Amino acid sequence: MAPVPSGRPAGSSSTTYSQTSALGIVAPRLRCPSCGGPLRCADRRLACPAGHAFDVARQGYANLAGGHRWRHRGDDARMVAARVRFLDAGHYRPLTSTIAVLAAEHAPPCEGLVVDIAGGTGHHLSAVLDACPRRYGLCVDASTPALRRAARAHPRAAAIGADVWGTLPVRSGAAGVVLSVFAPRNVAEIERILTPGGVAVVASPRPTHLQELGRLVRAIGIDPRKPERLAASFRRFERIALQEVTWRIALRHEDVQAVTAMGPTARHLSDDDLHRRVARLPDLVGATVAVEVSVHRREALTR
Ligand SMILES: [Zn+2]
Repeated sequence: MAPVPSGRPAGSSSTTYSQTSALGIVAPRLRCPSCGGPLRCADRRLACPAGHAFDVARQGYANLAGGHRWRHRGDDARMVAARVRFLDAGHYRPLTSTIAVLAAEHAPPCEGLVVDIAGGTGHHLSAVLDACPRRYGLCVDASTPALRRAARAHPRAAAIGADVWGTLPVRSGAAGVVLSVFAPRNVAEIERILTPGGVAVVASPRPTHLQELGRLVRAIGIDPRKPERLAASFRRFERIALQEVTWRIALRHEDVQAVTAMGPTARHLSDDDLHRRVARLPDLVGATVAVEVSVHRREALTR
């Protein structure tokens, strides 16, 4: 896209989507979901040479869903609002810091993107970008309410809508770091988009995670063999770091409500049902947060 003409009124929103915006800078590392061609950002659209075009929403994200059926439905507005409340309250700050430190420590020297798959509102991505001041970030999520926030989460973060279980609209080798935080793991796609020597930083709940909230939060218990399953799914990678992060949090009713609405239970409980269950709890509920953060390196090309 050509520089914005000087005659344009100051503060025009069109300047937001110029080549100097995060989406404009990240666009050449995206690929068209229809034909796989490279994308360029121009005139508030992402377009490929074959003429497929995708509008940039007013809030700054672009939907590259490609029109097929999604296997992972995105969070609705209620769940996204709950997530924002909970994360803004700082309950997961030790987790966010651990992810940022490990990403900065193990990122390869190239300047590949930081791609957060199912990155929600861009909360963890923002912390990683602060820790990696030369990198640009991309939040990929299926949820429109989440993308609206993710597009504004950090000056160096772009946000696109896509099915995180499908082929990601990201060019092969474009990422230096991939984040997967409590997210479905599409390992084949993680491997494809990572540059050789790039790393996946994966956060996964341990069996004791939020155990005090019992069935209220975890409609489906955490599989105690989850760590082994995770290691098996990344068997083509080299695990170069593993950190277990455990801390205690004290939750008020609204926090319990929020953490519940963030998880899969939210899809099975009505608002009224959740309210009734939370009302029966003590005013302050102590809970353990127990998360495993691992770093997996994609094999570098041998010379
Ligand atoms: Zn195309």
